[in-house]
Amino acid sequence: MAAASSSPSTAVAPAARLMDSHGRVIHDLRVSITDRCNYKCVYCRTGEHGAQYPELGIEEYLRLIRLFVNLGIEKVRITGGEPLLRHGLLDLIRELARLRTLHGDPLDLALTTNGHLLDTLAAPLKAAGLQRVTVSMDAVDAPTFERITRIPGSFHKVLSGVRAARDAGLTPLKINCVLLRGFNDNEIEGFARFAREENVAVRFIEFMPLEEGRLWTPEIVVPLKEIVERITRVMPLLPLPPREASETARRYTFADGVGEIGIIAPVTQAFCGACSRVRLTSDGKIRTCLFSQVEHDLYGRMRSGESDQNLSAFIAQTVYGKEARHHIGEPGFLKPSRSMVHIGG
Ligand code: SAM
Repeated sequence: MAAASSSPSTAVAPAARLMDSHGRVIHDLRVSITDRCNYKCVYCRTGEHGAQYPELGIEEYLRLIRLFVNLGIEKVRITGGEPLLRHGLLDLIRELARLRTLHGDPLDLALTTNGHLLDTLAAPLKAAGLQRVTVSMDAVDAPTFERITRIPGSFHKVLSGVRAARDAGLTPLKINCVLLRGFNDNEIEGFARFAREENVAVRFIEFMPLEEGRLWTPEIVVPLKEIVERITRVMPLLPLPPREASETARRYTFADGVGEIGIIAPVTQAFCGACSRVRLTSDGKIRTCLFSQVEHDLYGRMRSGESDQNLSAFIAQTVYGKEARHHIGEPGFLKPSRSMVHIGG
């Protein structure tokens, strides 16, 4: 296995809710349930590797997620790899939908997908208790889309998936688009129209150095400022107020209030100070930051028979040691040992 595991900080963590040593309350968990993917997006994968890490059983993810929820996690997002490829997904969603937060509310339960299998899975996912999905779509022009995914026919498959998700009520439906200069930055205005026509919220995301290959440079990143300026030239944007402090997207609507655009700018306007998130990889490692240099082997402890109480203490200690921020673009920046597809985006 590529990444090193480490012991968490020895500082004493607060008992009840997950909090880090920088005073941030952690209530958001992303769980990867496979690092397999049926797409080979040019900015994400080299196309040479498949899965690299083991998957846990569905019951094992459930046990670990329950521990996090008992420590104050309120939002769970299932991801991958491509989570719709994972056998047992509907059982997992059904069980997660029954969990309650420390306040007694249902979890905020969402899933991120490339949408390829959503046309058939949207309705069963909704019936199982999933609330909403985010679909990744990096172009609204079919040839550009398929040049990026490297899968023929993928554009229309995903479009049907998006519509099936909306019809099934997996809403509010978000579309994520990672922008790369020279690949799809000519899609910005098209996406603004798409947001209005399909009544979806489009989120543009700045490209981060998390790819399998070596594509990232500061120049390839399309910054928030440029995205706003370009849309505004064709359709005036009105800023929307943040719904919560840890919201990652700067949100805008159009002058007539139809459609929503958001921009997630981890590179040019990092939001680490308000980060409320930790991740669990498909092989059961806790990652406290996308850019962590170390991982924390929760599953290994579970497999060796540790009690729920000890595992919870391990989670709390690990989260307490969460990094203050990432260092993208700074001298000495190191990419993490896993790329996005193997961490869980
Ligand atoms: N297969 C699912 C999907 O396509 O949404 C989930 C996993 S995918 C890794 C999650 C998200 O991460 C996608 O929206 C993808 O575009 C985004 N992503 C991948 N590499 C990225 C990078 N280097 N910078 C920013 N976002 C990235």
